[in-house]
Amino acid sequence: MNYQTERAEIVAYGKKLITERLTTGTGGNISRYLPAEQVMLISPSGIPYFETQPEDIVVMDLAGNVVEGTRKPSSEYELHSIFYRERQDVFSVVHTHSEYATTFACLHQAIEPLHYIIGSIGEKVRCCAYKTYGTFELAQEAFDFIQQDHGILLGNHGVLAIGKDVESAFSVAKDIEFLAKLDYRARCIGQPVLLNEEQMQVVIEKFATYGQ
Ligand SMILES: [Zn+2]
Repeated sequence: MNYQTERAEIVAYGKKLITERLTTGTGGNISRYLPAEQVMLISPSGIPYFETQPEDIVVMDLAGNVVEGTRKPSSEYELHSIFYRERQDVFSVVHTHSEYATTFACLHQAIEPLHYIIGSIGEKVRCCAYKTYGTFELAQEAFDFIQQDHGILLGNHGVLAIGKDVESAFSVAKDIEFLAKLDYRARCIGQPVLLNEEQMQVVIEKFATYGQ
């Protein structure tokens, strides 16, 4: 079996989707692209995250063919592969149905800049139009819509996060849920004070050079 380390990573982050309360049941999916081999590893369809074994992870080429594995890939594989085909800066995609963020997605309501951490994702967390799950139309809509942002809401569906590796895409998905929860709670007791464009630009620039 090839890609043992990468398979184990997807299994581990799948469990984190549940323990960090970013999804329930078999909702959501995770993938990682290996540019040298031009394949992506993606979570399988319909297997609970705590039952998923490394051999259940499906290896696919970017045309959608299964290269290695006996399981059916996640039904949203198009939503993942389009980023690896079309962008040179994306190596992982994480998709969730986390509850607070999906609530905003059902309202087609962006999460506004009420906390500086939003600058690690974009000026706000915007929401794209509704398209049927598991279709190329959904993948195309999300791809066209996301532009320079690291994550968006998928209308009437959930969250899409992208990153340079699984850790960063997962972290975006987690931050989006954190922000959605804050926005929801702030609106329960008042009107959140939003950061202005200038304040957000400062934060976005700081995030661009943050870390090691
Ligand atoms: Zn979904």
